Amino acid sequence: MKTSFKFRPLVGLLFLSTLLATAARPQSKPPTVDKSNIASPIAILAGRLIDVRTGDVTINAYIVVENDRISRIVATAPAGMKLIDLSKYTVVPGLIDCHAHLLGNPKDQSAMSGLRMSSGQAAIWGVHNVTIWLDHGFTALRDAGESDIGYGQLALRNSIERGLIRGPRMVSAGNFVSLTGGHGDADLLAPDKSLPRAPNMADTVDEVSVAVRRDIKFGADWIKLMATGGVMDPISDYTVQELSQEQMAKAVEIAHRAGKKVMAHAEGSEGIKAAVRAGVDSIEHGTVLDEEGAKLMEQHGTWLVPTLFCFQHDMETGLSQGRDPASFAKGVAIINEQGPAFKRALDHHLKIAYGLDDDPDFVSKEFGALVRGGMTPIEALKAATINGAELMGRSKDIGSIEPGKYADIVAVDGDPLSDITVMEKVRFVMKGGEVYKPVAQ
Ligand SMILES: [Zn+2]
Repeated sequence: MKTSFKFRPLVGLLFLSTLLATAARPQSKPPTVDKSNIASPIAILAGRLIDVRTGDVTINAYIVVENDRISRIVATAPAGMKLIDLSKYTVVPGLIDCHAHLLGNPKDQSAMSGLRMSSGQAAIWGVHNVTIWLDHGFTALRDAGESDIGYGQLALRNSIERGLIRGPRMVSAGNFVSLTGGHGDADLLAPDKSLPRAPNMADTVDEVSVAVRRDIKFGADWIKLMATGGVMDPISDYTVQELSQEQMAKAVEIAHRAGKKVMAHAEGSEGIKAAVRAGVDSIEHGTVLDEEGAKLMEQHGTWLVPTLFCFQHDMETGLSQGRDPASFAKGVAIINEQGPAFKRALDHHLKIAYGLDDDPDFVSKEFGALVRGGMTPIEALKAATINGAELMGRSKDIGSIEPGKYADIVAVDGDPLSDITVMEKVRFVMKGGEVYKPVAQ
């Protein structure tokens, strides 16, 4: 009796400290997105189901989803399953944007925007931006690099994968590997006000090695090289090749050895050719692609992500979103190059994937631009589905509505094979069996 009385305060203290420790300790399991809206198995009645491989359309097909994957596609209603009725719509696979930039405010085009925003604020913009991609039916995307040396885009990718936030499936580049004063040099200040040299600056072959290894160290899936100058910055010249072929070949060697891929921002024709010869996996933009470059890309099997709409959109927004006049003048100069270049790409049957490179509010607009540029509607749909999946290296899991793949399923109002712009009318979005955008009742 005496003994237990003596020990009581200690027991109380232990209890209190356990309570406090429990409250302070982070949960070992991260909180996950509420998946209570997944009823499994579930059947989706597709009024018109487009097979993006063949272009064939099936009327009234039932897609059976079990957990996060498609288990089968049947002609009659499976018994005893909850039904999602998309009989009024055309059903396509979840869409894929292969040229996205996630961080920051997409409506601020001022040259100083990146210098006036913290990494944290840019990442929070990213959390918001990814929901816009999802809302437009884009259930997967490839981040085409960011200038955040803290890699907010990789944190976003990882957080989506862990279920901390909602967003499309992602693969991501690291920082822009760039020459000093090149398209990826974010330091736009006067020489006597300069920022410390950023780790993505690479003026020699050895510096490329270091920059690429840093991206890989911190988890990038892709390396982004600046092969030429660009349009959006106020200092570089898009016709000029920037990284040398030797520098790009070193980046490719290191990335491929580590199982990573390489994309090259390339607008001027010489930079495109040097990047292709260096062995990059994809050319981004290819806006001034010449005949020799198109032939080289065909021979090497290099992908093209043409990003046509963003250049056209620039002509509409003009200086209204804080755009630097020097940058806008470059946009005006390059706009007439893209039509003939894209025609060359089509003539040479290049592998083409869909990419926006713009404000996600406009992500569906690239469909119209691709078809106006000469693609058929089914080719544009392939670019945004099976082709994107192949470029991302995710063909086993996404890109088509087939048994075994993730249930990434989108419905649009109308027939995209006769009018591709109905891809702007997304009425239903499912990612991994979870409904992100339900049909309006
Ligand atoms: Zn870009």
